[in-house]
Amino acid sequence: MRRKFVAGNWKMHGSLAENQTRLSQLAKGLSQLKTLDMAVFSTAPYLFQCKSLLAATPVKWGAQNISEHAQGAFTGETSVAMLQDFSCDYVIIGHSERRELFAENDAQVAAKFVQAQTGNITPILCVGESLQQREAGTTVEVISRQIQAVLDVVGIQKFAQAVIAYEPIWAIGTGKTATPQQAQEVHSAIRSLLAKNDQCVAQNMQILYGGSVKPGNAAEIFAQPDVDGALVGGASLNAGDFMEICKAAS
Ligand code: PEP
Repeated sequence: MRRKFVAGNWKMHGSLAENQTRLSQLAKGLSQLKTLDMAVFSTAPYLFQCKSLLAATPVKWGAQNISEHAQGAFTGETSVAMLQDFSCDYVIIGHSERRELFAENDAQVAAKFVQAQTGNITPILCVGESLQQREAGTTVEVISRQIQAVLDVVGIQKFAQAVIAYEPIWAIGTGKTATPQQAQEVHSAIRSLLAKNDQCVAQNMQILYGGSVKPGNAAEIFAQPDVDGALVGGASLNAGDFMEICKAAS
């Protein structure tokens, strides 16, 4: 039985004071939740704060990006060893904002997946189609290509220590959410692709949905059999909304 997982991607938002308030509100609300996996993703400078405020709670934390290199002259990048220093459990890989705004390609995404796992940090591999690709009927083809690019490099067994997030680009930060049926269709296609490689990995894989998840739409999305939780952007900045989404999953 897969556990539900709700992850909050804070993107480039927050400050020491704002994060402190948000994290202490989160910690206070935890007793209302039943079993689920939870994590928040701050920018690198605030990972120390997540560590100090969350270490005594069941909430995990992670980074929004990682370098594909172990170390060296890569100005502005953060290595896996640095994320280990702040006890990150997870790192988001291949978010569509990284792919689109920073031109990250499938090969780099695969290299980042490898780097994360060298430090026992679980990659959350994001995949998703543009509106144009959806309208052209190529959604499953695009998502399969994005996953296959990583599978070809690491092999299926490495996916046993990974999470996948399906995030249609047209639903991120737009207020438009995929219908529960649209989410289920793609999640099921992802699980089938994995199952062709290994049934057990496919059955155990947590596949999160991301794209304008809010307290009002979370429950119906989580009710789909292949949706194992959510990667939440905007709504994760409000501790009350984030807790409501977690409650819908727990
Ligand atoms: C995201 O950026 O991963 C995301 C899902 O954002 P939002 O919830 O704001 O659409």
